[in-house]
This record gives sequence, structure tokens and C-alpha cells, in this order.
Amino acid sequence: MFRRRRKPSVYDEPQFRAGKPAGDPSERRAEHTLGREHAGNPEAYRPGGSVYDEPDILPGRVGEFVAQDWTCRNCGYNLRGHQLEKPCPECGRREWYRPAPAGRDRFRQWLSARQQAVSARRSWLSIAGAALTAGPFAVIAALLYGPPGLSAMSVPLIAIVFAPVLEEALKIGAAALLVELKPYLFRDETQIYVAAVGAAVLFAAIENVLYLTVYISNPGLDVVLWRWTACVVLHAGCSAVAARGLVNVWRECVAEFRPPRIGAALPLWITAILLHAAYNAAALGYSWLF
Ligand SMILES: [Zn+2]
Repeated sequence: MFRRRRKPSVYDEPQFRAGKPAGDPSERRAEHTLGREHAGNPEAYRPGGSVYDEPDILPGRVGEFVAQDWTCRNCGYNLRGHQLEKPCPECGRREWYRPAPAGRDRFRQWLSARQQAVSARRSWLSIAGAALTAGPFAVIAALLYGPPGLSAMSVPLIAIVFAPVLEEALKIGAAALLVELKPYLFRDETQIYVAAVGAAVLFAAIENVLYLTVYISNPGLDVVLWRWTACVVLHAGCSAVAARGLVNVWRECVAEFRPPRIGAALPLWITAILLHAAYNAAALGYSWLF
């Protein structure tokens, strides 16, 4: 005859126990942190809040054709009209997320409702806020790593490695934050460029004033001209390249109603860092030679 044993069993799992299941005490801290984060920003979308955000594990959808634009997240191929259990015809990778079933499109509803609620005024104020905060923050960070009186050895390391990484991250930081957490604030992609390039120009302007008044005593006209042309163009140009990565993330989010995948901005952000580093290396080499 069947006898229930006392050893660990699936029947001991919370859903089979009588009464309301109590959470594991070890998870209480995480629960508290997540609750506080959510309370602090009720407008932020919580990934994993719905089973429709989970990888393609729902049964009963085999053989369905994708009826909307749906980018392969490996190669960028549009999988519209394909069956997702088959690999991407372009790169051979299986796309693990599919559009939510009709009427259950949770992220679509979340995004659409907020897009409609955002006025042009609030949208532009947010863009201006992003540019006006990111620029000065990047200057503060730049001052922290670049005090006057550095040893000669640390100058190339800072100029070619640390400065490009830090500055390129901070100049687009606020725009990246908005794209990831509040993509509905942007009405078109131009605004992403305005937020990022605006921050870059402000950063360059503050940096120029500091260099030409504090760091360099009696700068010549050539130095003044160089700082207000080449340096401004460099900062604006590199941030525009990095912003293009954010635009790609935002476009996919609003066109396909998928949570923003900020990691997709990485290749162009790294490109911006490399451009910046190459410029700094050239400028450093020039100053050593002449
Ligand atoms: Zn692909």
C-alpha cells in the first residue's frame, strides 16, 4: 500500500501546503528592496511582471507566424512572417521572445498609455533636464580624476583610457537612463540626439571655461580657437555616435513594443570611446612633438 514518506517531496512545496504560503525568510530583504524601488518610481516598467515578458515557453503557440515587425536580437533581421521555433534565416539563432498574444500585450499597453499621457511640454522639459544635468555631472566626474599636478606617467593613461570611457558614459548617461526607464518621454529620435549632444556641448563649454581660465594661464589665440572648435566638435560628435546606439534601442522599443534592451547601444558607445581615445592620443602625440 502507498505510504507517504517524510523525506523531501514535491508535496511539501508551498503550493501544496495548507494555508497561505509564507515567503522564504532569506528573500525578505530582496522583497523589501524591490518594493521600495517600485514605490519610488511607479512609472517604471517592471520586467518579468507578466508571463508574456518571459522567454518563449508558453505552450500552444507552436507554428504561429509573427504578425508584426520583430527584430532578431542577434543580427537585426526582421522576423515578421516567420515561425519563431525555427532559427533566424539570417544568423541561425533562435529568437526566444515572441510578441504577446492579442489582448495580452502588457508592455504595449503600459507604453501606449504613457505615450498618450505625455504632453509635448513635459517631453521637451525632460529632454532639457537630461542635457542640463548630464553635462555638469560629466564635468564634476572629469575634475575628480584630472586634478592639476599629475605625474607624467599617469597623463597618457588618463587621457587615452579613463577620460574617454568616463566622459562618453556620463555625457549620454541621462539620455540612456530615460531611454531605458521612460522611453515614452521621447516623441521622436531627434530628441534623443538633442539630449545627448546638448549634454556634450554643455560639457565641452564648461570644460573650455575651466581650461582657459583656471588650468592654462594666458592661453594663446590658437589654444582658445582649438578648444572652442575641435574640442566642442569632438565631444558633440562622439556623443552623437553614442546617441545613435540609444536611438536603435528606442526605435525597437516603440516600433515593436518590446522593453528597451539598453545593451544594444553598446557597440556604438564603444565606437564613441575609441574615436575619443584616438583623438586624445593624437592630441597628446602632437603636444609632445611640438
Ligand atoms: Zn538573426
